[in-house]
Amino acid sequence: MAAVGDKSSARGASKAGSDPEMVTMNVSVVLFTSDLRLHDHPPLRAALEDGREIVPLFVRDPAVDGAGFAVPNRLAFLADCLSDLDAGLRERGGRLVVRHGDLVGEVCRVAAEAGADEVHMATDVSGHARRREDRLRRALEADGVRLHVHDTVNVAVAPGAVAPAASDHFAVFTPYFRHWSQQPLREPLGAPRTVRVPDGVGSGSLPSRSGLAGLSEGLAAGGETEGRTRLTAWLRDELASYEEGHDDLAGDVTSRLSPHLHFGTLSSVELVHRARRAGGAGADAFVRQLAWRDFHRQVLAARPDAAVSDYRTRNDRWRSEAEAREDVEAWKEGRTGYPIVDAAMRQLRYEGWMHNRGRLLTASFLAKTLYVDWRVGSRYFLDLLVDGDVANNQLNWQWMAGTGTDSRPNRVLNPVTQAKRYDPDGAYVRRWVPELRSLEAPVVHEPWKLRGLDRAAVDYPDPVVGLPDGLDRFKRARGLG
Ligand SMILES: Cc1cc2nc3c(=O)[nH]c(=O)nc-3n(C[C@H](O)[C@H](O)[C@H](O)COP(=O)(O)OP(=O)(O)OC[C@H]3O[C@@H](n4cnc5c(N)ncnc54)[C@H](O)[C@@H]3O)c2cc1C
Repeated sequence: MAAVGDKSSARGASKAGSDPEMVTMNVSVVLFTSDLRLHDHPPLRAALEDGREIVPLFVRDPAVDGAGFAVPNRLAFLADCLSDLDAGLRERGGRLVVRHGDLVGEVCRVAAEAGADEVHMATDVSGHARRREDRLRRALEADGVRLHVHDTVNVAVAPGAVAPAASDHFAVFTPYFRHWSQQPLREPLGAPRTVRVPDGVGSGSLPSRSGLAGLSEGLAAGGETEGRTRLTAWLRDELASYEEGHDDLAGDVTSRLSPHLHFGTLSSVELVHRARRAGGAGADAFVRQLAWRDFHRQVLAARPDAAVSDYRTRNDRWRSEAEAREDVEAWKEGRTGYPIVDAAMRQLRYEGWMHNRGRLLTASFLAKTLYVDWRVGSRYFLDLLVDGDVANNQLNWQWMAGTGTDSRPNRVLNPVTQAKRYDPDGAYVRRWVPELRSLEAPVVHEPWKLRGLDRAAVDYPDPVVGLPDGLDRFKRARGLG
């Protein structure tokens, strides 16, 4: 366990030290944030040491909602996660305490109500999370309560655990991955058998899916139970074909575990262990993707501003949403006239999730071919993605916009070439763009090539921009001649 702070000195410490009337406190608060699970949960296991009572706490903080979290798809998934967590705790004799309000104030209040002398939580990487952690530590200390922060709860390798000699983080994935792969991984922890929660700590109601408007129709269900079932089935059925199939849009063999990793219903430490145990090329490729997740987290931890500003500026004078209104609307609604782009954007809207290859080519299309500010696209993704995640979303957008960590910042993905490579028989396009269901590959990827009555029979828009024109605009903007 990697805990920050001297845990042993906190054990048994108590405000009772100065007040002989009070009994020694034996209660810990476990603050759940992006780690909504019972398996492999270091803060929970540490809090339960010595048979302590615990208060499992989740705080619904309006500041997090205000920062753009509160979009319907993620709120629905969160509701599933919290009710599953509560059910899991009840099976073990406990329950989840839910509070609404400023996280720091609520944690202090709950600690005081429960007579707790320590709080355990996972660390996180965003600027908001780190400022909040500092505030919480100071407020708890003022009340004589110690905060223990655990750092391999939401990642396999903690930000800063590996760094090049002259910097606080890796800016290039390949050397990062080499170091990441050599790091010792802690053993996954089992779920606790029993949990005792002290009486008298009040809870607000659990949030629920019902009443949430604007949900994606095909949204996946959340919760640790669901995540573990999916993980086991996927490792058994699909891991072996992952290396070959992970870019095949229609094949859809990727794990779809991203929302579970985002909400922490699954632990990446456990995923790495289980994949490595299964072994093979599929496992290696999957573990590499988990390292990409940690890579972006260590970049964001070192450069929190990269959530909103260019990690490496290319002096772009992007078209704003207002300047490119019609193009942006067509992109969002999946009617750019490029079938593969439109298919992926419609998958996003319908499922609140999109295949990685779709994310790459729709991001390239917006930022490079349409030359629209990457923040317009990343905001739209965050409005819909159930796995919408500041580190992964913003830094992948920057990677594709060429302002991030890509060593080839001017690469432009050609949507037709990409479509022919990753959806060779057109099944993905036909699945998501019903107007094109009667077409076979390759014309399904280039319907503008149809002539006469064949073209008239297809109710589908012409391309918003010709690819050579888009490429010229981008090259001029980047000063590439
Ligand atoms: C423009 C753009 C935006 C993205 N936004 C997000 C986002 O908001 N949240 C998010 O979790 N991922 C994001 N990704 C990364 C990736 O597309 C998704 O993690 C992946 O598609 C999720 O599907 P999966 O769980 O089936 O992935 P798998 O292929 O099964 O991979 C397993 C896990 O590895 C991690 N992973 C995979 N690819 C990447 C990657 N390129 N970067 C970082 N981690 C990765 C994810 O946690 C994923 O669940 C984005 C990628 C792009 C190009």
